[in-house]
Amino acid sequence: MFKVGQGFDLHRLEKGRRFILGGVEIDYPLGLLGHSDADVLCHAIIDALLGAVGESDIGTLFPDTDAKFKDIDSTLLLKEVFELVKSKGYRINNIDTSILAQEPKMKPYIPKIRENLSKLLNLDTENIGVKAKTMEHLGIIGTSQAVAVLANVLVEKLQ
Ligand code: MG
Repeated sequence: MFKVGQGFDLHRLEKGRRFILGGVEIDYPLGLLGHSDADVLCHAIIDALLGAVGESDIGTLFPDTDAKFKDIDSTLLLKEVFELVKSKGYRINNIDTSILAQEPKMKPYIPKIRENLSKLLNLDTENIGVKAKTMEHLGIIGTSQAVAVLANVLVEKLQ
């Protein structure tokens, strides 16, 4: 049985924060604001996975009121969700994502992000799509006030 999942996340860009996507640090004067490290890519993938396997969502699993998750490396959260997915008898088929960010150019970072996610999720890089789009300088993303990510996953129930 195949099941799809969809995830979306958005974080504000602020001064004095790190900008981390898929566990990879992006060189930019602004970074993502959040309770955790605000890795918006990991967060969108987590929600897509949780949706696909019939679980709740990232905010329920890792509440931003819990000091335990303050500034936490979101790849650890993704790893934990991957373990949950496997424990429920699912295998990840593929993941596809779109990063919506006006700046900087994401292209130089994408191979490293895919490689990182590949290791984290034990998935061939061919099965991990990471694409980037600008917003044509329009709206909150287009004026670099925020970065958003869309994620889709396909999982298969093995037993
Ligand atoms: Mg988030």
